[in-house]
Amino acid sequence: MSKISPVRLSPALKEYIWGGTKLKTDYNKKTALETVAESWELSAHPDGESKITGGPYDGLKLSEYISLCGADILGNNCEKHDHFPILIKLIDAHSDLSFQVHPSDEYALKNEGEYGKTEMWYILDCEDGASLYYGFKRDITKDELKAAIKSGTLTDLLNRVPVHSGDVFFIPSGTVHAIGAGILICEIQQNSNTTYRVYDYDRKDKNGQTRPLHIEKALEVSDLKKTGPAKPPKKGSDVVLAKCEYFTVRKITANGDHEIDISKSSFHSLIAVKGAGSLEINGETVNFIKGDSIFIPAQDGKYRVKGDCELILTHI
Ligand code: ZN
Repeated sequence: MSKISPVRLSPALKEYIWGGTKLKTDYNKKTALETVAESWELSAHPDGESKITGGPYDGLKLSEYISLCGADILGNNCEKHDHFPILIKLIDAHSDLSFQVHPSDEYALKNEGEYGKTEMWYILDCEDGASLYYGFKRDITKDELKAAIKSGTLTDLLNRVPVHSGDVFFIPSGTVHAIGAGILICEIQQNSNTTYRVYDYDRKDKNGQTRPLHIEKALEVSDLKKTGPAKPPKKGSDVVLAKCEYFTVRKITANGDHEIDISKSSFHSLIAVKGAGSLEINGETVNFIKGDSIFIPAQDGKYRVKGDCELILTHI
């Protein structure tokens, strides 16, 4: 195994009040936790790093593996970022998530010492009738937003969207949003854990505590303009789901054999979200099943995905 070999990652698991059991039952997450809200599948964030599993780097945190192998495994497109640029999670919203907003880079670097958060959701699965909220139905003012938060009528201002598996939502920083109950998501986001909670249904945790709200900061960073409807994703075996200055996300559907180009511009992250298969690169084979996360160092070449499976491919 060399520096350019693919590595398998095991996630950091998070138990939050709204999480469920589907990541254990449907996505093969092994844990003693009763519920798992999030699995951080590709993370170098200090709040929960993924670890290399198997091979000579077994047990290293993603950040340790990167320092050991050198930044060139990330690719040229990562040179402009001081930190590892993205964070990929699977999210099981058994109950509703809070209404929240994330700051821009400019605001977050100044006030939180980390990046802002633009994120993208790929809906893996959902219950009948599940929905989520994102962006405002019309242009609003800061006073209107403040009043709606205070009177508990925020939902009147937001787009409520029914979801189906395969839907894609791109959520730029500043967009007020809430993931609804019964939705399973693969989230690709900037490497940040800064969330300003606006409304949390007045819920209490196991210890009878409500979670903190961050209304003043939320008012400062919220984009008050109307958000239009999301475009339906195109169909095909290799489709771009989202492309922005921070990441490109593609959906690969392999039925049999599929060839993918990789270059020195970026590493590839693969998350298996359906089926099972194998990855072949430089004469090495890595098998995977639904729920697995694989990191391929940046390099010029090609790799093949074999099997009957769906993969979320992210590069910079
Ligand atoms: Zn969010």
